[in-house]
Amino acid sequence: MPASAPITQDVVTIPRVLPEGKINLVGLTREAMRAALIEAGTPEKQAKMRVGQIWQWLYQWGVRDFGAMTNLAKGYRAELAEKFAIELPEIVTKQVSNDGTRKYLVRIAGGHEVETVYIPEEDRGTLCVSSQVGCTLTCSFCHTGTQKLVRNLTAAEIIGQVMLVRDDLGEWPVPGAPKDETRLLSNIVLMGMGEPLYNFENVRDAMKIAMDAEGIQLSRRRITLSTSGVVPEIARTADEIGCQLAVSFHATTDETRDKLVPINKRWNIDALMSALKAYPKASNSERITFEYVMLKDVNDTDEDARRLVQLIEDYGIPAKINLIPFNEWPGAPYQRSSNNRIRAFADIVYKAGYASPIRTPRGEDIMAACGQLKSATERARKSKRQIEAEAGL
Ligand code: SAH
Ligand code: SF4
Repeated sequence: MPASAPITQDVVTIPRVLPEGKINLVGLTREAMRAALIEAGTPEKQAKMRVGQIWQWLYQWGVRDFGAMTNLAKGYRAELAEKFAIELPEIVTKQVSNDGTRKYLVRIAGGHEVETVYIPEEDRGTLCVSSQVGCTLTCSFCHTGTQKLVRNLTAAEIIGQVMLVRDDLGEWPVPGAPKDETRLLSNIVLMGMGEPLYNFENVRDAMKIAMDAEGIQLSRRRITLSTSGVVPEIARTADEIGCQLAVSFHATTDETRDKLVPINKRWNIDALMSALKAYPKASNSERITFEYVMLKDVNDTDEDARRLVQLIEDYGIPAKINLIPFNEWPGAPYQRSSNNRIRAFADIVYKAGYASPIRTPRGEDIMAACGQLKSATERARKSKRQIEAEAGL
C-alpha cells in the first residue's frame, strides 16, 4: 500500500443537499436530523419529538412518502416535502443464484455502481453490504482490489442497501412482526466492496441506524465489520460502533501477508494483533473472527495452521477462524486449496481449541461470492479492454 493512502474521507454528518436544493433525510444521525429540522423552521422544543416520529416512519416502517406520516400534521408534512427528500440508491439488476443467494447491482449518485449480496441460510439471512466503490487497497486475491477507488459511499447509500433489500424481500414489519432472529434479513456483514474503515464516519452513522431501537433494530451482535487491518481505526470501531469484528488475516508471516494484503507493509502482524487484543473488551463483544482465504501452495500448509494458532495464543485473543475457500475470478493469479488440504488445516485449528468453520461459497454462479464483487460496468469495460488486447488492437 502506498504510504500516502488516505485514511478517511468524506465526513458526512452534515446534511447532503440534493440537486433540487432539498436535503436527504436518509442517513442523517439523529442529531443531524434535528439540526436540519430546526434550520428548516421546526420549533426547537418540538424537534426531538419530530425526529423520533420521522425516524420511525423511515426506518421502522419503511415509509418513503411524507404524506403517509399520519402522526404529523398535514401542514407540517407538506413543509417537510418541500424542503426534504427521502432518497435511496436504486436497484438496477437482481440476479438470483441456484442456491438462493441474491446479488443486487445498486446505482448510486453519479451513476456509480456497487454490489450488495443477500445470503439466505436456515437460521438467518445475511446481507453483505458495500462501503466503497472500488477499493484503495490491492489485496492480490481480491477482485474488488483490481478496481480503483471511485468514491466512498454516503451513510444514506450504505443504510440504503439494507432498506432496498428489505423492500425486495417484502420485509417491512407490520405490528407484531418477528424480532430480528427470525427476520429474513437478520444479519449485516460489511464484507462487500471496499474497506469499511477507510470510510469510517459513514459506515458508523449507517450502522447506528441499523442498530437503533427505533430504527432497523438489529442487535450489534448481528453486525460484523470486516477490515483488512486499518489499525488506527480499530479502537474507534470498538468505541463508536461496538459491532462484531472480523479481520482479513490470510497469512501467518509478514513476508506472505505483505504480498497478499499489502496494508500489512504499513501495519504489520504485530501491530494488528496488538490492536485486535484490545477489541473484545473495549467493545464488549466476544470473539474476533479471523478470515483466512485458502490459496493453494501459498498459505495453506500444516505449518501455517500451527503458526496461526500460535499467534492467536501468544496474543491471547478470543478467536474463531473462518476458512474461506478461494473464489476464482477472471485472471486471478491463485487457485483454491484442495478440499482435503482445507480440512486438514481446519482440523489443526479446531484441535487447538478454536472454532474453524469452512465458509461454503455462496452465489458463485452469479459471481456473488466473497472477493468476486466488482461494479458490472467496470467489469464490462475491463473485458472490452481484454478483448481488444487479445485481438491485438
Ligand atoms: N475490505 C474488507 C471487507 C471486504 S472483503 C476486508 O478486506 O476485510 C470480505 C472478505 O472476502 C475478506 O476477508 C476478503 O479478504 C475476502 N476475499 C477477498 N477476495 C476473495 C476471494 N477471491 N476469495 C475468497 N475470499 C476473498
Ligand atoms: Fe479491498 Fe478488502 Fe478486497 Fe483487500 S480484500 S482489496 S481491502 S475489498
